[in-house]
Amino acid sequence: MAIRQADIMKPLGRPRRVVSKPRHTASVLVRRSWPSRRKSAKQIAVRSVKVIKLPRNEMFKAQTVAYRVVTYSKLNKHLHRVTVFVDSGWFSSKSRPVVDCSCADFVYTFEYVLAYTGNGMIWRCNGDTPDERNPGHRLGLCKHAIAALTVMHRRSLSEKLVRSTRSKAKINWRRGK
Ligand SMILES: [Zn+2]
Repeated sequence: MAIRQADIMKPLGRPRRVVSKPRHTASVLVRRSWPSRRKSAKQIAVRSVKVIKLPRNEMFKAQTVAYRVVTYSKLNKHLHRVTVFVDSGWFSSKSRPVVDCSCADFVYTFEYVLAYTGNGMIWRCNGDTPDERNPGHRLGLCKHAIAALTVMHRRSLSEKLVRSTRSKAKINWRRGK
């Protein structure tokens, strides 16, 4: 299993947070996700959850925790990377996270809307409104991010999440991973 380059949405530049305080909690983001995506999230499994290094930057606070969740499809084994940034310590369903996923659905349907509630960044999309795929600018997450937040919520209840492996991997803003 490998992450196929064609599946990865490369960013156009460095990310931009347009709203500094995320409005919605993780549980609201999942609850308000579209029924179609919540249904397809059942086909997504989580391979690993790790805490990764966040390079010093002006977008996040020093105490922000960044989780990298690798998901795979039970159907076609495609992998995706979901990154969840929490400004206020360890993740719980009440955290107000900034979310990113490397899939096209996230980038072209949800990234813009999430950026404007503070729960995302303008990073992989070009910053134009998603008028074709999400004309009502409805809040939501892709199936990978739904699966990731659901598993993170479950692990946070048993404190498994606090013991997440720390990875030496560092986010590369330019390459989008
Ligand atoms: Zn996705």
